[in-house]
Parts: sequence; structure tokens; C-alpha cells
Amino acid sequence: MEFTAKELDLARRAAKFVDNWCIPFEVEAERAGGPLPAERVAQIKAAALEAGLQGGLHRKERGGNSWTYVEWLLVEEQLGRSTNAISWYIPNAYNVWRSASDELQKKWLEPALRGELHDAYAVTEEFAGSDPTGMRTVARRVDGGWEISGEKWFVTFGGIAAVIIVVAYALEPGEELDDPATPRRTTLFAVPADAVGISTIDDPPFTHNYADGHPTMRFANVFVSDADVIGGVGEGDELQRAWFTEERIGIAVRCGGAMIRLLTEAMEWTTGREQGGARLIDHQGVSFPIADSAADAAAGRLLTFEVGRLADAGADPKLVHGKASMAKLFMSEAANRCADRVLQIFGGRGYVRTTAAERLWRELRVDRIWEGSSEIQRLIVARSLERRGVDAMLF
Ligand SMILES: Cc1cc2nc3c(=O)[nH]c(=O)nc-3n(C[C@H](O)[C@H](O)[C@H](O)COP(=O)(O)OP(=O)(O)OC[C@H]3O[C@@H](n4cnc5c(N)ncnc54)[C@H](O)[C@@H]3O)c2cc1C
Repeated sequence: MEFTAKELDLARRAAKFVDNWCIPFEVEAERAGGPLPAERVAQIKAAALEAGLQGGLHRKERGGNSWTYVEWLLVEEQLGRSTNAISWYIPNAYNVWRSASDELQKKWLEPALRGELHDAYAVTEEFAGSDPTGMRTVARRVDGGWEISGEKWFVTFGGIAAVIIVVAYALEPGEELDDPATPRRTTLFAVPADAVGISTIDDPPFTHNYADGHPTMRFANVFVSDADVIGGVGEGDELQRAWFTEERIGIAVRCGGAMIRLLTEAMEWTTGREQGGARLIDHQGVSFPIADSAADAAAGRLLTFEVGRLADAGADPKLVHGKASMAKLFMSEAANRCADRVLQIFGGRGYVRTTAAERLWRELRVDRIWEGSSEIQRLIVARSLERRGVDAMLF
């Protein structure tokens, strides 16, 4: 794959950040159950800002970097090499802010990209996961704004966010959600986390050890003004579709980064250790799974960067969406296979949480679930093959 000197320089900068500021603190974070001391977090944030890695796809004038998709993917690939979400300390914000008003971007996006606050994104509910149309959260129009009521599950950063992007159905006076005549106006609201009526009702432990959780949050008649609508009333589905496409190629490329780390560590280990009178790598039972994962990683990387190049070229967003799903499906499944194989190759050490393969084996599991599970990606790929054609999806 050919990259420009500028792109390669950016990838090197990101690699250096990961080597100096993420990987060295992984075991400390793991042993602490996720968090790092506040002073270390401040150092990592400052290093990320100094390296110019914040808010990649966001515009420069907002404090981001205005990267192309390919540039962004090169950075995310490097971040995928690290564990315990230490790279999440890099100042960033959800991409839907790009569609928000100037006022909202100044209030939330710009400070987020300076590392001064965090946002969260709340769409999933108890009965609305893969199929978000089962959402029960509503925003009722009241004098001067809206009142939001509902319950959101798995709100990443929910415990630390200053602002929560809440997805709700907007209702005009007299309308009820259960009335089939009521139009479904999916709408995104920027809800200040300290607004009256917000509570955390559960904060369960998850498989990975990350600093921040994914709590369940209740919104009881939470008032927001008209100015807190992101994009426009009823525009939520469109904004979320664009968000999913980006998130999915991001997951694909980070899974690729994880495979780079896994294969690098597997090669060091298997060429350095002898059992049964030979190096581990000289036993085919050990080398073949490594070879299979290397083939997956190389093939998936081509696909993922191809999707990035298409997005940069302004290709049909529906085609990019279909291919992004294909990349996410392939890379998340391949990375999970790779982590399982490499864990096995490390033997007993592979079952110890201070081994990167063990952490990645746990952490990569969610990539087959969030931002649309593997099953949902298969549905999208199948539908794209039908609607856009086999040639368009493969070439
Ligand atoms: C760690 C973590 C962080 C998260 N962060 C956020 C966040 O910040 N904000 C947010 O809003 N959400 C977040 N989520 C939620 C996540 O996006 C959902 O868990 C995911 O979309 C799946 O929804 P669900 O859990 O309700 O499962 P369900 O939709 O109930 O699916 C259950 C199973 O059924 C399968 N299935 C469902 N429908 C079909 C179908 N039509 N065909 C075939 N199989 C199907 C699924 O693939 C899955 O295997 C997070 C989840 C986790 C685990």
C-alpha cells in the first residue's frame, strides 16, 4: 500500500505516542482495574496535544486536525496496538458535533478537543439495541425547549461526561409515541450532564479494565432548550448513519493495530523460546496459526484502507457504509481469532493479565458487539450486495 510522506510521518508520530505514553502504563492500569493516577493522565493528555493527535477528523478551526480518513486510519491503527483504553485520554469528541450549531461547537466540541471535558453518546436502551427503532426515550416539546424522559444503557464515559448526546424521539404537543400516526422524529440533543433529572441507576463491571465505565442512566423530564438540538429535529437517523460508518472503519483499523501488536509479540516469544528441542516457531502447530493471522491482518488492512480512500474520494456514502461494515465484520472477527491463537501460543503466560495477548483477548471481544454486532454487519453486507451489486462491493 502506498502512503505519502505526510501520511507516514503522522503514523510515526502516533506510533511514538503509543510506544511512549500508552504501552508503558498498560499493566499499571490493568492492575488498578482501569484508572491511572490523575497526574499521569494529565501527562498523557499533554503529550497527545503536543504530538498533535487530538480530535483527528474534526476541523482545525475547532481544535481538531482536519485529517483525511486515510490519515485518521493510520493514527487509529497505531492506537489499536495499545490496551486498557489509555489512548482514550487523547482529547476527542463524537463526530456528530460537526453538524451542531456554532454555539454548541464552541460550548462543547472546542473544550473537548482541548482536553477540558468529555462527551458521551446515549442511544442504546433496554429494548433498543441492534434495532434502535424500539427506543422509548422521548423529548416532549414544552415552552422554550424540550423535556427528555427515558433510560439509556451502556453510556460510555457516562460517569465523567460534561455533556451527553441523547438520542430521542421528538414529540409535538398532543402526540404520543404509541400512536401509530406519530411520526418518528429521531433527534440528537446536547444534554449537560449536570441538568436536573439525570441519574445513574447502574454502573456494572465489564469484561475489560478501562478507566471509565458504561453506566445505565435515567433522564426524568430533563429540560433542554431549542438551541441544544444537534443538526435539526428529525435529523438524528441521518447523523447516526454517518457516525456508524466512521466508527466501524475505526474499529476495523484498530483491530488491525491489535493484530500487529499480537503478531509482533508472538514472533518475539516464539523465536526466543525453546520447548521439545526446538524453537516454538519451528513447531508447525505454533507457526501455522500465526501465519493464518498474518494473512488475515494483511488482507483486512487492504480492505480497510480501501474504504478510507473511497470515503476521502467522496464515493457514494451507501457504498462506503456497506464496505465499512464488511471491514468491521472481517477485522473484528479476525482480531478475535488472532488474540485467541496468540494467547494459546503464550501458554500459561497467556492466561496472565500482565500479558498483552490476554488483555487483547478480553478487550477485542466487544468489537464483535458494539457499533453493530457481527450479525448486523452481515445483514448490511448482504443487503449491500443485493442493492449495490457484487462488483461494487468487491472491487
Ligand atoms: C462496552 C460497551 C460499550 C457501549 N457503549 C455504548 C455507548 O457509548 N452508547 C450507546 O448508545 N451504546 C453503547 N453500547 C451498546 C452497544 O452498541 C449494543 O450493546 C449493541 O448495539 C448490541 O445491542 P444489544 O446489546 O441490545 O444486543 P441485542 O440487539 O439485543 O442483540 C443480542 C444478540 O442478538 C443478535 N441480533 C440482534 N438482532 C439480530 C438480527 N436482526 N439478526 C441476527 N442477529 C441479531 C445480536 O447480534 C446479538 O448477538 C455499548 C456496549 C458495550 C458492551
